[in-house]
Amino acid sequence: MGLKTKKEYIESLRQLKPTAYMFGEKITSIVDNPRLRAGIEATAATYEVAEMKEFQDLAITTSPLINEPVNRFTLPPSSIDDLVARVKLNRKLGNWVGTCFQRCTGLDCLSTLSICTYDVDKKFGTHYYDNFIKFLKYMQKNDLTANACVTDVKGDRSLAPHEQPDKDMFLHVVERRDDGIVVRGAKAHQTGSLSSHEIIALPTRAMRKEDKDYAVAFAVPSDTPGLIHVVGRSSLDTREMDGCDLGNFRYSKYCPTLIFNDVFVPWDRVFLCGETEFAADMVVKFSSLHRQSHGGCKAGKIDCMIGTALVMMDYNGTNQAGHLKQKVIDMIHRAETLYGCCLASSYEGKKEASGTYFIDTVLANASKIHEGKEMAEAIRLMVDVCGGFVSDLPSDRDFENSEIGPLLKKYLKGSDKFSVDNRIKMYRLAEKLAMESADTISDIHGGGSPEAHRVTIFRESNVESKKKSAKRLAGVEG
Ligand SMILES: Cc1cc2nc3c(=O)[nH]c(=O)nc-3n(C[C@H](O)[C@H](O)[C@H](O)COP(=O)(O)OP(=O)(O)OC[C@H]3O[C@@H](n4cnc5c(N)ncnc54)[C@H](O)[C@@H]3O)c2cc1C
Repeated sequence: MGLKTKKEYIESLRQLKPTAYMFGEKITSIVDNPRLRAGIEATAATYEVAEMKEFQDLAITTSPLINEPVNRFTLPPSSIDDLVARVKLNRKLGNWVGTCFQRCTGLDCLSTLSICTYDVDKKFGTHYYDNFIKFLKYMQKNDLTANACVTDVKGDRSLAPHEQPDKDMFLHVVERRDDGIVVRGAKAHQTGSLSSHEIIALPTRAMRKEDKDYAVAFAVPSDTPGLIHVVGRSSLDTREMDGCDLGNFRYSKYCPTLIFNDVFVPWDRVFLCGETEFAADMVVKFSSLHRQSHGGCKAGKIDCMIGTALVMMDYNGTNQAGHLKQKVIDMIHRAETLYGCCLASSYEGKKEASGTYFIDTVLANASKIHEGKEMAEAIRLMVDVCGGFVSDLPSDRDFENSEIGPLLKKYLKGSDKFSVDNRIKMYRLAEKLAMESADTISDIHGGGSPEAHRVTIFRESNVESKKKSAKRLAGVEG
């Protein structure tokens, strides 16, 4: 009990026995699979940095609930300082791993539930908040990682959950028992579900009265019977299996589809069941928090790309080229604007009825729109600075081949001041940063597609006050 070391975290995953498939085969040892291990290592970094002096102030805090030191990824924010610390820690960690560390989503769920379960109970006299607090204590005392299980597969997007020809297109309750509920459905793109001890399911959209069975939130262990993880393919996924050409040689990301094949959830793990009017509130709170989380870690990832671009300029002998320096400046201002917007959304946060603090939604969503476009621009700028070998560098195995290796190394040499081996490694890192689909596509769709950010911005902005100020200036009455 208490804070886990990185080693203890990995050992704790080893104790779990989830049902998992990848490339058509059942995986028995998750932590020993090189593809999954690279993702687990990224989450393990959230434990590792908690042991490091330079991160500790941000990574470890005290829980007012259990009055013990906890990892920040298990603490729903209870002050503006906590909201700010989230962003700062995410940036540092994003920079540390150069990809997604996969633990922010669990915190975003905990924060959402700590606000919404309280509000549901107040309205309906239910006991979801008590259930949640019991669960939160368990998460904090054992320093656990949770996955955010939000995105349903959704079938025909023009139809509500209850209108779908196949009723399982959204996760729903198929049986209510004395001891709990049974749920069926599937959730897509589940970042790090096998790096997680717990799976927290939330509704993915607003629900109508007829969608009662679909308005459900709960938590189950990631190896609970009936839960099946099917790891998705991503652009560079065989690199870890091959054990070469990794680019980022420590960390990666993977996203399974999760099938709930009649999964039992005991009542004390249920946080919403049938209260349709709160489904929208849960998804808006979660997605806004998650969009803010992205701003921190993606600013940290741009920092990695800036570093890569600058080192490549040294290796290529282009570090005096003014136009490349301008491109690096353009990358820096994109990272800082993203970061600034997320910090602002923290500073403008407010206390909710439960006592948990919540961010400014408009600023959080503005940061996500910025991310969706500007991460792509930052990648484009990095690739421009580095050169074409980002796309088609020969394999490490070619460089190691005694016949062609020396020739390749001769022709891959850049500036004489630097080793060719390091230049090769840096090109490979640039490829990973630019081309890993499990990571880069989350810049666009992670936390909801861009239109969802726009809709939220318009709905949450005070447009009436903007009209009023324009009318006042123009001398228009009424
Ligand atoms: C790398 C990655 C990691 C992710 N990690 C997680 C995770 O850990 N947990 C999780 O729960 N989710 C995760 N997501 C899922 C993410 O939130 C969804 O991808 C996102 O919400 C979009 O949903 P979708 O993929 O089903 O696309 P769709 O909903 O099919 O959207 C495709 C397009 O259609 C539009 N569209 C959809 N429905 C309608 C409609 N009714 N009317 C008009 N336009 C519509 C959208 O605006 C969008 O432009 C992840 C996604 C990615 C790519």
